[in-house]
Amino acid sequence: MGVAKVFRCTLNQQIACSYGFSEKRYGDIRSMSRDLKKKLESLLGNDARLLDGAFEREVYSMDIGAIPFTGLLFDNIPEMIIQPKKIEALKTIIRVANEERVAIFPRGSGSSGLGGVVPTVGGMVIDFSSLNEIDELDQEKMTIIVQAGVRWSEIENFLKSKELTMRTYPSSFFSTIGGWIATGGYGIGSFKFGNIQSQIESIEVLFPSGEIKSINQDDEEFSLFFGTEGQFGIVLTATLKLRNKPRKALPHMIYFDSAEAAVNFIKDMIKENIVPYNIKYMDAAHIGETNKILGERSFREKDSVLVTFEDELEDRKFLSFASNRGIHAEEYLAHYIWHERLFSMKRKGSKPTPLACELTIPLENFSPYLKKIIRMSKRFKVKINVESYIIGKDEALVLIHYDSDVRNFRTYLAHLALIPVLTKIGIAFRGVPYGLGIWNAPFINEKIDHQTLRRYKAYKHEVDPRNILNPGKFFTARTKWANIPGILLKPVVFRTITKIAPMFSPILLSPILEEKSTKDETELEKTVYSCVKCGSCASVCPAYLITRDELLNPKNKMHLAKKLLLGETITKSDAEKAFLCLHCGMCREVCQNDLDLLTAWLELEEGLEHIFDKPEDAIQNFVSSIEASEEYWRFVYAQKV
Ligand SMILES: Cc1cc2nc3c(=O)[nH]c(=O)nc-3n(C[C@H](O)[C@H](O)[C@H](O)COP(=O)(O)OP(=O)(O)OC[C@H]3O[C@@H](n4cnc5c(N)ncnc54)[C@H](O)[C@@H]3O)c2cc1C
Ligand code: SF4
Ligand code: SF4
Repeated sequence: MGVAKVFRCTLNQQIACSYGFSEKRYGDIRSMSRDLKKKLESLLGNDARLLDGAFEREVYSMDIGAIPFTGLLFDNIPEMIIQPKKIEALKTIIRVANEERVAIFPRGSGSSGLGGVVPTVGGMVIDFSSLNEIDELDQEKMTIIVQAGVRWSEIENFLKSKELTMRTYPSSFFSTIGGWIATGGYGIGSFKFGNIQSQIESIEVLFPSGEIKSINQDDEEFSLFFGTEGQFGIVLTATLKLRNKPRKALPHMIYFDSAEAAVNFIKDMIKENIVPYNIKYMDAAHIGETNKILGERSFREKDSVLVTFEDELEDRKFLSFASNRGIHAEEYLAHYIWHERLFSMKRKGSKPTPLACELTIPLENFSPYLKKIIRMSKRFKVKINVESYIIGKDEALVLIHYDSDVRNFRTYLAHLALIPVLTKIGIAFRGVPYGLGIWNAPFINEKIDHQTLRRYKAYKHEVDPRNILNPGKFFTARTKWANIPGILLKPVVFRTITKIAPMFSPILLSPILEEKSTKDETELEKTVYSCVKCGSCASVCPAYLITRDELLNPKNKMHLAKKLLLGETITKSDAEKAFLCLHCGMCREVCQNDLDLLTAWLELEEGLEHIFDKPEDAIQNFVSSIEASEEYWRFVYAQKV
């Protein structure tokens, strides 16, 4: 046996061990040959859109947490992106991928920031954006059947005239149903209605074998598809439970002198059996950010609780409970914060590279945890701000944000290291990391108990023996270079790194690196480095929604702009796409980071015009085709209404 072969065997065994599979069963993921791409093209015809341009592959190599060194660790550039338009097409793709042992990375709107959609070994990204049909509404049973690529905002629009609404939804209203099932999330309304799993009646799942199975909430297998990030099968459709649309929302905002006082208020309210639709905590720093957005000190910069009712009786009960507690904000301010619930990452423009850490924590440990992380974040020289949804009688989902700047690389690395440090402190307070993806995979034992993990591994082995679904993450992050860098992501090693990271932070941060001067930045530069890549703009951009061309997606145009600013190669055909914009300003209206996108687009076009001529014909054709599209006029009409 040659050295190479011995090495490969050991490597395969190592992979196999990390999953608990035998070497033979793990199988080896292969690259896509040109012939295979051709074969798929001819099998799928018009039922799917196949993309393999260099720029397209680049934009699909990341999610919102675009970590600059990802490419050093993983083969994160997919070999191909497929947007199936029909379930039949998706079945063909999965069958071929399984036969040919090509890895598949399912992708909704790519808004979960832990690398869940990031390719690790090339392969195919399956983009669900064209599987977005609303199949059936049953008004009597109050259920709706939707395809996995449908966005929450699309369901809400559809239900507008039907006097029905959803029970709970993520604040990323632009994300997909399939994505939230796969991440098993909590969101707005979770205090009353629980997580996504509790509002789903059944799902249809496509397995690597090609089998499609309808799985009901009472089936034993049902829970396996929530929070397992596309490891076992592809969610095709879901039947969602709806409810009658409430007549109004009754939000109340109350200020407190400390996080502890705010949390005690929440605990007492719950003890009194008062059941709001939603409870949200915001720390003083978070409220300070809101004042900055408004440009005035409308809110008191104090720890605050927003409690929202839909039931007047329950609301009255609350008012008598809360009358002597805290300081009640004016009604219009409470309404403003409630209205802003879909813009959780909103910040005053021009702040580069947001970073965040998310975990669930028992309510009783919430304020001691906050005290501890405030001290820790000072060591890392960052100012955190915290918001939290209360998701049950004794549990909170905590989201900690802070700003960094990827252009000051050493400082950025230290700030990045703070994320697992905050997670680890949370674990000491009986917290649980919110998702796994790539970057939280070292915390798998803290998220999933031993018995459940064994069950997951056995099921993975049964339904995806070749490990083609989202490999190299979740169970264990598997890097390239014979997985040598991957050793750093092994739970034991990672735990040690997070332990010593606070000791090294002063070295990385000191002498505090000169902050990059931003005073001469153009609007385009500010915009590119401040975009949080949330994708909120994509859900309203007519150019993107009508063409479904990812290069017209504002978030991806931002990536093209970055290449332009860095002087990287841009092809003429990719550049042309940047001009296919209606300059309607819809993206500006919903931008989570308050960015002046219209000025940025003009600057981008101007910059590209210096290199390539303005593509007058392409622009003309684009405008004509948009104006000829029924969808566009429906869109215009909907905006007017
Ligand atoms: C501004 C903002 C606000 C957010 N608010 C919330 C919140 O309130 N609550 C919350 O839980 N999260 C929140 N998130 C995180 C994220 O938006 C959610 O996890 C969201 O549900 C992900 O949906 P997506 O369509 O973007 O999925 P993606 O990020 O595209 O995918 C997520 C995971 O699901 C897998 N997947 C996607 N589609 C399928 C499918 N059809 N079948 C099988 N696997 C699939 C992917 O491979 C990946 O592992 C927020 C993010 C942002 C940027
Ligand atoms: S201005 Fe351009 S990028 Fe923005 S929403 Fe309109 S068409 Fe889309
Ligand atoms: S431009 Fe604004 S809305 Fe769009 S992805 Fe960036 S931050 Fe989000």
